[in-house]
Amino acid sequence: MATIAVVPALLAPDYAPRVLWQDQAPPPTIGPSSLPPSCDAVVVGAGYCGLSAARELARRGLHVVVVDKEPLGWGASTRNGGMVIPELKAGPAALERSLGPVGRRLYHEVNEAFDHVEALVAGVDPAASGGIDCDYERTGQLYLAHAPRLVRGLEELAREHAAMGEAVRFVPRDELAAEIGSDAYHGAVVMERTGGLHPARFHAGLARLALEAGAELHDRTAAVAIDRRHGGFHVLTTRGAVSARQVLVATNAYADDLLPELRRRVLPVGSYIIATDVLPTELARAVSPRDRMFVDTKNFLFYWRLTPDGRVLFGGRRSLAPVEVHEARDFLYDELVRVHPQLAGTPITHAWGGSVAITLDRLPHVGRLDGVWYATGCNGSGVALNTWLGGRLAAVLVGEAPPPAAAELVHRRIPAHAWRWGYLPFVGSWFAWQDRGPGRPGLRTPRP
Ligand SMILES: Cc1cc2nc3c(=O)[nH]c(=O)nc-3n(C[C@H](O)[C@H](O)[C@H](O)COP(=O)(O)OP(=O)(O)OC[C@H]3O[C@@H](n4cnc5c(N)ncnc54)[C@H](O)[C@@H]3O)c2cc1C
Repeated sequence: MATIAVVPALLAPDYAPRVLWQDQAPPPTIGPSSLPPSCDAVVVGAGYCGLSAARELARRGLHVVVVDKEPLGWGASTRNGGMVIPELKAGPAALERSLGPVGRRLYHEVNEAFDHVEALVAGVDPAASGGIDCDYERTGQLYLAHAPRLVRGLEELAREHAAMGEAVRFVPRDELAAEIGSDAYHGAVVMERTGGLHPARFHAGLARLALEAGAELHDRTAAVAIDRRHGGFHVLTTRGAVSARQVLVATNAYADDLLPELRRRVLPVGSYIIATDVLPTELARAVSPRDRMFVDTKNFLFYWRLTPDGRVLFGGRRSLAPVEVHEARDFLYDELVRVHPQLAGTPITHAWGGSVAITLDRLPHVGRLDGVWYATGCNGSGVALNTWLGGRLAAVLVGEAPPPAAAELVHRRIPAHAWRWGYLPFVGSWFAWQDRGPGRPGLRTPRP
């Protein structure tokens, strides 16, 4: 495959290939403790989804044990862009056209997820007394056409959302300067219902709420097997076994062989982020006059924003194959300066990567495998959705709510999953060709 030459990134003297958010907000310390022999529910995975489920189960009086195989705050939940976006890769009308009434329910549920996160951080949600201090701002999102051929689709998308009563409008190219300091785009949709938060502070807040509700958190504890026993489950971990009446697996992109069938239905794909040094206020305003969350229309999209402390955070990927963080860093810096030439000479302090869970239809999925519930498939947008899905699954487990719409979608296997690294680079080249070339099938079109 052809290598694209890029100018190496300009690195600050204190540059480190680390996660900015984790540096700024280390996770709460949870002392080592032994696992109980039994409990009501085991939750596997301590990201937004697992912690939300644990909080909701514990506050209903259940004895909940959360296990995560890594140190607390290791997964995607402290590595992401912090964009709180109610979206599903398709507008409401397109979702309903392709999926029928389930599509409409999905649209309403992602919006409910967005409201849920806003209520949690504001402390309006009864389960979040005091709220979560995570620098949340409702900033709005700018969804940017990277090529002229995308403009009509964006106009249509704006109409679809506006028809649902949302504050969404199309901004033509000659008015973009009020929204973004870049000449690289051909028009955009502004969606006011989008926010930005500090992912690690949000995660730490969810962990605190789960602990306060009475959930037990055990990190560095991998679940390695789940057996059905006596009408319940026996969960074997690297630190002992726990019996439970219910088990919920919230491992998203990091699904391992605990549930091989779940692993086969999820494609973990790397996404990478760089963060600049703190910018002078005027430069930050020149890049983002209204402090929006920025996302573009490519398959290999870029997403970027100002951080709460005034840096630019710029994320994306250029292939489906795994790459080293330093390669991604140089590529992202090159693109950042192309999009925002005013940032030439601004060094970067951090670069990191994480995995997003891609599903075949690019939609979230909830299901049961041999009695074990799971939620997965953030497809790059799980800050709001996975947080909400965790809470909703808790309500399902105790019989208070029906499963969410995502449980009604057929969750297909990724074809030839075991051989994916053989063919994915070619699929990636096809996506990249679409990004450069004349044809992309549709904007944010789910492929059921
Ligand atoms: C670089 C990047 C940028 C992103 N940007 C955004 C964004 O701006 N907006 C947005 O909405 N979404 C974004 N996302 C997606 C978002 O971060 C995720 O959807 C979300 O964090 C998923 O939360 P989760 O709790 O489901 O999974 P995670 O937070 O990934 O947690 C899963 C946990 O499961 C654990 N685990 C796995 N197997 C086992 C096992 N056998 N035993 C015990 N534990 C196990 C892992 O250690 C991990 O901690 C981004 C993701 C990445 C990687």
